[in-house]
Amino acid sequence: MNLLHINDLHVNFSTKAGQVRVLSGFCLDIEKGSSICLVGESGCGKTIVALSIMRLLPENAQVSGEIQFKDRDLLILEKEEIRQIRGHEISMIFEQPASCLNPVFTVGDQIAESVRANGLCKKNEARDAAIELMRLTGIPSPKKRFDQYPHEFSGGMLQRVMISIAMASKPALLIADEPTTSLDVTVQAQIVELIKDLITKFGMSLLLITHDLGVAAELCRDVAVMYAGEIVESGCLNEVFRHPKHPYTKALLRAISDDGLRPIKGSVPELTNLPEGCWFHPRCPFAEDQCRLSKPELKNGIRCHLWKKN
Ligand code: SF4
Repeated sequence: MNLLHINDLHVNFSTKAGQVRVLSGFCLDIEKGSSICLVGESGCGKTIVALSIMRLLPENAQVSGEIQFKDRDLLILEKEEIRQIRGHEISMIFEQPASCLNPVFTVGDQIAESVRANGLCKKNEARDAAIELMRLTGIPSPKKRFDQYPHEFSGGMLQRVMISIAMASKPALLIADEPTTSLDVTVQAQIVELIKDLITKFGMSLLLITHDLGVAAELCRDVAVMYAGEIVESGCLNEVFRHPKHPYTKALLRAISDDGLRPIKGSVPELTNLPEGCWFHPRCPFAEDQCRLSKPELKNGIRCHLWKKN
């Protein structure tokens, strides 16, 4: 059963340079209890998907399509209704936890506030509930650390604080946007383990946004590969990573192969000036005339005219 159903989502930004098309007919389904990651180079629209779900896009964004969450279209809900869902039924964690926390309040107060906002316990019980969340997310000596400020925490510990806040409501869907990117490798592995434990323990669905294919493989069952604001390949992560079919997915996987970094040739197209035909054709080693003339549809999870041939 789908928890989230995104259908034909288009997002444009009005800028001085004109209309910038950042998402084009984006579709995605997330089943209850499942985990999916969006991967692709910077600027491919991964974070815009997350911000669209949370209704946190800037005011110059024009959005159309539908985002059904538990059979309610998030795009047409009133502001108060979306506030009831955001941070309660859908929570999000970000790459830079320090920038999401208020430096003048203790971390404990900020977690307790999140508990209170969810109405899950009485005001005088919020401190205990917050300490329990800190324990759950592996923050050592939580009673003592409750009264400390964000600047007294390391990057890894701050991400645990953000996860505590996100978990205060036991959301049905957790969106994690590059949750480990700013952390060193050892701490990264710990945070990945923590997220894995929590989604299993609470039966949450996970939407992971990452450019780190290793983290994606650790955490997710399914994958959607994005290029220039649309999905070019999707499916079961093990299958896609072992037997990629789209030339862009192949290039992305080759780029992090064991024999060293091999950057993908060319650069991401400007979203104000997308090429005719397949948007990947200027970088694709297999491009033929057909690719320059007509844009491939996403069929059976692959957006490529020639994938069977290559
Ligand atoms: Fe490459 Fe053509 Fe496939 Fe596009 S449609 S990815 S240019 S082979």
